[in-house]
Amino acid sequence: MSSNELKTSYDVIIIGAGPAGYTAGIYCGRARHETLIISGLLPGGQLMNTTDVENYPGFEEGIMGPDLMLTMRKQAERMNTTIIDDVVTKVDFQNKPFKVQTGSKEFEAKSVIVCTGATPRKIGIDGEETFGGKGVSYCATCDGAFFRDQEIAVVGGGDSCMEEATFLTKFASKVHIIHRRDTFRASKIMQERALSNDNIEVHWNSSVEDIIGDQKVQQVVLKDTQTGETKTIDMGGVFVAIGHEPNTELFKGQLEMDENDYIIQKQNTETSVKGVFTAGDVHDHTYRQAVTAAGFGCMSAIDVDRFLSE
Ligand code: NAP
Repeated sequence: MSSNELKTSYDVIIIGAGPAGYTAGIYCGRARHETLIISGLLPGGQLMNTTDVENYPGFEEGIMGPDLMLTMRKQAERMNTTIIDDVVTKVDFQNKPFKVQTGSKEFEAKSVIVCTGATPRKIGIDGEETFGGKGVSYCATCDGAFFRDQEIAVVGGGDSCMEEATFLTKFASKVHIIHRRDTFRASKIMQERALSNDNIEVHWNSSVEDIIGDQKVQQVVLKDTQTGETKTIDMGGVFVAIGHEPNTELFKGQLEMDENDYIIQKQNTETSVKGVFTAGDVHDHTYRQAVTAAGFGCMSAIDVDRFLSE
């Protein structure tokens, strides 16, 4: 917990502590609102699993993901925002003040910002865990530049996969798309773009059975989903692009969501409940960048400020 004293009632409670949550905390604290951030299971969010971040503005030489998040956290605390590393188990947005409950405490708030992010879907094989950050990545925009002149795999068959595979040809010597079926789910235009690229080879009806390497990814074992045959290909990296799941379980029945369970913003950053706002990947499935999440965090804090002064 931060050095700021813990109370039971706040002007604003921010649920989640990625770039969106910390930025909202910096702005709300600086606007002199009593602010509490409840970080959740992974304080710092997805960037805690990243190494170099080269595209967050302000760091000419790049910065390590965990260092960036720790700096944001300290900046929020310097603005008198209280941060606790606890997990929210229940919320009540039906009555005011809003109630936010952790395993051991219940808090009240005049307003809430939901910044719980999204989790990339995983293939679910051992090698994926072993080589996370060592050749296995979930974000081409973040990590593509580390794979210059190497052969890499992109797993998936949707728009994200097509977009990432096409983007990665800027760096990789060759990109292999690994798809479990014989047709893509992606939109026609995105498919065409990928399929017409000479540096992309598609392995249809294929699943990743194993990822092999010493210190980092060196080979990928593919299995033909029709015949069961396996083959091993030399690869420097594996990008998993099989979709994301927003972390919204806690808010079902309380906040309006789209068909994929992303929270809907009704007006600016406000959700279907007046006084409850949202920022970052939990509502934004389009951009999903640290800098855009931070931007949304800022916007939500400004909206909270207006709401509280109404
Ligand atoms: P998606 O459309 O849900 O596609 C996920 C792909 O991963 C599917 O092809 C699926 O295979 C495959 N997959 C799922 N679980 C798998 C597993 N366990 N093992 C192997 N493969 C697996 O997800 P997305 O591509 O991230 O797109 C999400 C949304 O964002 C979509 O609405 C998309 O249109 C949108 N988007 C738009 C753009 C754009 O317009 N520029 C860019 C990116 C995303 P199956 O097909 O066999 O189910």
